[in-house]
Amino acid sequence: MNTSIVWLRDDLRVSDNPALLAGAETSDNLVVVYVLDQESPGIRPLGGATKWWLHHSLEALADKLQRLGGRLILRHGPAHDVLRELIAETSAHAIFWNRRYGGAERELDATIKSFARASGLKAQSFQASVLFEPWTVRTGGGTPYTVFTPFWKSCINNHDIPRMPLDAPPVLPHSPLITRAHGGQEAEPLASDDLASWHLLPTAPDWSAGLAHRWTIGENAAHERLEDFIDTRLPQYADGRDAPARLVTSELSPHLRFGEISPFQVWHRVEAAKAHGDAVVLKNAIKFMAEVGWREFSYHLLYHWPDLATVNFDSRFDAFPWGEANPEALAAWQQGRTGIPLVDAGMRELWQSGTMHNRVRMVAASFLIKNLLIDWRVGEQWFWDTLVDADPASNAASWQWVAGSGADAAPYFRVFNPVLQADKFDPQHEYLHRYLGEYEHPLVSDYPLPIIDLVESRNRALAAFAQLQGIP
Ligand code: FAD
Repeated sequence: MNTSIVWLRDDLRVSDNPALLAGAETSDNLVVVYVLDQESPGIRPLGGATKWWLHHSLEALADKLQRLGGRLILRHGPAHDVLRELIAETSAHAIFWNRRYGGAERELDATIKSFARASGLKAQSFQASVLFEPWTVRTGGGTPYTVFTPFWKSCINNHDIPRMPLDAPPVLPHSPLITRAHGGQEAEPLASDDLASWHLLPTAPDWSAGLAHRWTIGENAAHERLEDFIDTRLPQYADGRDAPARLVTSELSPHLRFGEISPFQVWHRVEAAKAHGDAVVLKNAIKFMAEVGWREFSYHLLYHWPDLATVNFDSRFDAFPWGEANPEALAAWQQGRTGIPLVDAGMRELWQSGTMHNRVRMVAASFLIKNLLIDWRVGEQWFWDTLVDADPASNAASWQWVAGSGADAAPYFRVFNPVLQADKFDPQHEYLHRYLGEYEHPLVSDYPLPIIDLVESRNRALAAFAQLQGIP
């Protein structure tokens, strides 16, 4: 039997999945495996919200695979050991996967590729989760880009149009029985973990009701969301995307994070909308794809600066005088009780639903970093644990962007005023009321006092910033 293994990771879909298609086309028995690897060196364990998403996404994926005649095999442990064992069990002749871009992930993948090839297997990886491979986008001087606008212009103008999305394999060749290489000739089904045994869902307490209310998970849901976005939200996107009360953004980020939909599918669906739309659609589509471009830029940065989540991109910030540890202030921020309504509303949205509007993410992050003088890495970790779209590239790049230490970052001295931001982007206070409903007038009389004075803390941040050498 000609068996191949498809190792799925951040690509939990059957359509536009080049690794799955290659496996289906070149073998008569396909083993599709997902490995829960929380042990390999440098692999960052998932946070609580992404574990919750992963559980449901794997369920949806298993169902999709079954409808094509396949079966999802679940294994846990260090990926290298698990795959070596699986190769031996199945006598596979080939292994396929779609690429990842984190430093530890790339090292692990390279080790597994070497091992597989040394063992006589074909090992092949594919481009599936970014539109432009990070090493192909270079400045005139041959270096990686560190500024978004020229990066995105170069992607659009100097590169081939992203390939068309691929169809799902019509059928997945799958043998229910595998003859074990080591156990004599008896045939038995390939062992798979029970998903429940991975304990990805929260139990004590179960905080996931709000997340379940907000999200529908899986490949089908991702495409429905994209269609709904194109039909009803895209025409208002450019003007409405900064207003947290208005639901005009796509809400595709967790689906993209887990690869339930690919950026190629998004790109070409938006292109089709442009082809049939008027000037308004065109303007909004360009703005929307530029945001998808920020995701590409974040992966570009992660690929070239693998320590993006832990090391200041701008090393001058290594000397930044962060404040003394302040667990009370941190807890107030995490729990949405800082006394600053927009920050509190955002942090409560995050806790209840696993997401936060982009504008409010910027304001809440700025408040932590600048008003509270808490290191951006502390906030990044909290978002990593609580966001359903917690992404190794976009989360790290965005936190560094707000901190001022990142690539093409907001200047440190731009400290968002959360009261003015609320007035400007939520003038009717609809968003505030949605999350702070217990207060009649969150911006006026009955709201708890701020834990910190906004003007004094802003001045303190600017004074701290002024101590850094070499930054004008
Ligand atoms: P849309 O406006 O519909 O945008 C479409 C897609 O483009 C998004 O789904 C997302 O994949 C991408 N995108 C949009 N804005 C950005 C951006 N600024 N940077 C990178 N990609 C972008 N995004 C994540 O996907 N994961 C994260 O962990 C994450 N952490 C963030 C932390 C902070 C402090 C900040 C300020 C932003 C963060 N973002 C993160 C970026 C952004 O807030 C979300 O991508 C966006 O809110 C998701 O909503 P949407 O899908 O409706 O976006």
